[in-house]
Amino acid sequence: MSIMATELERLDAVAERLGLDPPIHQHLRHPKRSLIVSVPIRTDSDELEIFTGYRVQHSMTLGPSKGGIRYHPDVDLDEVTALAMLMTWKCALMSLPYGGAKGGVRCDPLKLSSRELERLTRRYASEIFLCIGPDRDIPAPDMGTNEQIMAWIMDTYSMQRGATVPGVVTSKPVLLGGSLGRVEATGRGVAYTTAEAMAHLGLPLSGARVVVQGFGNVGSVAADLLSGMGCRVVAVSDVHGGITNPEGLDIRALQALVRAGKAVREYPEGEVITNEELLELSCEILVPAALGGQLTAGNARAVQARLIVEGANGPTTGEADRLLRDRGIFIVPDILANAGGVIVSYFEWVQDLQFFFWKEDEVNSRLRDILMGAFRRTLGLARQEGVDLRTAALMEAVSRVARATKLRGIYP
Ligand code: GLU
Repeated sequence: MSIMATELERLDAVAERLGLDPPIHQHLRHPKRSLIVSVPIRTDSDELEIFTGYRVQHSMTLGPSKGGIRYHPDVDLDEVTALAMLMTWKCALMSLPYGGAKGGVRCDPLKLSSRELERLTRRYASEIFLCIGPDRDIPAPDMGTNEQIMAWIMDTYSMQRGATVPGVVTSKPVLLGGSLGRVEATGRGVAYTTAEAMAHLGLPLSGARVVVQGFGNVGSVAADLLSGMGCRVVAVSDVHGGITNPEGLDIRALQALVRAGKAVREYPEGEVITNEELLELSCEILVPAALGGQLTAGNARAVQARLIVEGANGPTTGEADRLLRDRGIFIVPDILANAGGVIVSYFEWVQDLQFFFWKEDEVNSRLRDILMGAFRRTLGLARQEGVDLRTAALMEAVSRVARATKLRGIYP
């Protein structure tokens, strides 16, 4: 089943539980706008190569749409649409004044030179120019994109407008109007929600064994913060595979290794494992923070964790969800667990619109307030309705967007 089919199935179940008006339910199943663009670039060897890019705006009901841009060989319209819809729910759950969007270019960024990446990014930004803007749709990084790519998008948009417009993208370099704390925000949010979920389960954080799939911007920061909170990170992985050591891994040493351009499996004190083996390791906490669709009907029975915290978007298929729930494994869903990134994106946008910047402590404490508030409300709703946390999170988010849709009415 595709990620879009999975997310629509989840939406349909929640719509039924909420007793949503069928026309409003139908409205929420469809993205507001989907743009497919051709992105031709000149390669370094002076040949013409053509890529396909997307920007899907699922909803603008609660405000301008917000969401990242992904560069990955598997990007397609189905995936981008599902991820855009997830952004609508994520922003609504966090009570941010945003709708949801997502973009992507089907490419392998690791195979492009820096100059090719710049040309690809600037051409893609030009093609989506008409539908983005600080009052319209605000991109950010996602898998395969970073601060430098945001800087190029900001520059391309600004050159075409004839003025510097920092608020058109978030997670820019701090020098260009980026927010302090934004780079770490998603991983920080994962660590906060992990601590809160462990407290809810009555399990000690100190000494808890953590397994993290993905050692990028989300996984490496979450691993570092969780080990600072007293957890023992026993395995991590990247695209090339994983490394495990039951005694615990030195996360700072692993971060240094990765900064030096090496793979985590080159870490000397551990056993090399595959990404599949990693998901089945004995641990208390499992953090999938890489690709979607990693926990499936095929491996859900072998998962040994007590708690799963979804750092990635859509890492658990519908069937896996049911199997894990039946086995009593507690899941903090993506739209709650990884919302730290978009929360601090919101702070960045607010700072850019005001040209007034905050201290990092202020960013982090406001992040904690919003995220913990949403966590407690979601847990309360889950208890009240007798449902799991994913269903409760979706119920809260979908009902907010549905109520706003009704209040605004259908144009014309
Ligand atoms: N790509 C991130 C996400 O999936 C961040 C989006 C944003 O900051 O707009 O939440």
